[in-house]
Amino acid sequence: MRAEIVTIGTELLLGQIVDTNAAYLARILSAVGYDAHFRQTVGDNYQRAVEAVSLALGRSDVVLVSGGLGPTEDDVTREVVAGAAGVPLELSAEALDQVEAYFRRLGREMLASQRRQALVPRGSRVIPNPVGTAPGFAWEGDGRAIVALPGVPAELEAMTRSWVVPYLQERARRAGQSGVILSRVLRVTGPGEAAVEQALQDLLHGRSNPTVATYAGTGEVHVRITARAPDEQAARALLAPVEREALRRLRDAVYGFDDQTLESVVVDLLRRASARLAVAESCTGGLVGDRLTNVPGVSECLVEDLVVYSNEAKMRHLGVDARILSEHGAVSEPCALAMARGVAARAAADLGLAITGIAGPGGGTPTKPVGLVYLAVAGRGDTRVERHVFGGDRIQVKRRSAQAALDLLRR
Ligand code: ATP
Ligand code: MG
Repeated sequence: MRAEIVTIGTELLLGQIVDTNAAYLARILSAVGYDAHFRQTVGDNYQRAVEAVSLALGRSDVVLVSGGLGPTEDDVTREVVAGAAGVPLELSAEALDQVEAYFRRLGREMLASQRRQALVPRGSRVIPNPVGTAPGFAWEGDGRAIVALPGVPAELEAMTRSWVVPYLQERARRAGQSGVILSRVLRVTGPGEAAVEQALQDLLHGRSNPTVATYAGTGEVHVRITARAPDEQAARALLAPVEREALRRLRDAVYGFDDQTLESVVVDLLRRASARLAVAESCTGGLVGDRLTNVPGVSECLVEDLVVYSNEAKMRHLGVDARILSEHGAVSEPCALAMARGVAARAAADLGLAITGIAGPGGGTPTKPVGLVYLAVAGRGDTRVERHVFGGDRIQVKRRSAQAALDLLRR
């Protein structure tokens, strides 16, 4: 089955908002086994939007349209779909009920313009909107379908999960073309994309099912293995051996799978070890703490995270010896170690983690270049210090430092 996504919104064309709906819908399509060969974005303009939807309808079994379902003049999607489908708009009693119920629930007056949201192209099914006003709709004709969803991501996603996914699966089943595309992502940190590519070279190239591809992020690489098969079990059977082989080659560098984050893996490890952690951050300015506190349940293991930027702060809050700072400097192995020990002691934590480095662009010397970062972990009879020189600008050095620091905890 072939599907095409059309996102409608002038602010998308102007780059004022990022088209996350298209990315979300694309992932959904691939998960339910639909092929997406094209994707279009068009402004809030009736004529051009009709052109886009008509073009999509001519070459796809299903067209997914996002945005422009609101009550205002520039919300043209209802008219656009009716125009592309060649049918008139009709007031849907079912849709009107839903819009009215929404306003009743909020105890708000419904404006006359909001009745517009109950108009659908003739022959459409109404898609309930559990989180907002505008219902969506699915028009069908000539074996093809146009599904229209509101632009607000939370609404679009809720409706896609509850209604569109089962709808797409049912259509594929009826067409005798049901299938699944299954993906597995190995999340790698440490080696760069080139090193990962080299390790997986023969798996990456000249293979069509499953396919293997790499994507580079900041301080990490994602290896995506994707298999297509008639059902989930068959897809898993295709995936498994390739995943095993990739894991065997990348080993320890794989910190997690699919949507797992490095910080969630670290928090999990700390909780299982019943280890309480204290962090002292210099050049990362709280980034490590920010990431750790994104993980629910971190309060069981994180005691404190200090941003100790100046030498004075390192002495005052962590008891770093003035001689270490004058003899070795703040960006040094002894200082990182003293910071890790100091923060663990002051917080009565099992483990201390410290980050100190030169984020740049100024402050580098021939012996201590910009990007030089020392990381240290101390506690539970384990003391480790690492020296890195990271490339990139100030923000990238900070991000890479935070990533490497979290990874040091993992290993
Ligand atoms: P509303 O009833 O809120 O007007 P709508 O269906 O008319 O909903 P739009 O007006 O197109 O949708 O978009 C509403 C908001 O949703 C936009 O201001 C934008 O913040 C967000 N949005 C719209 N389209 C997208 C998209 N493709 N990706 C991400 N966000 C989007
Ligand atoms: Mg709108």
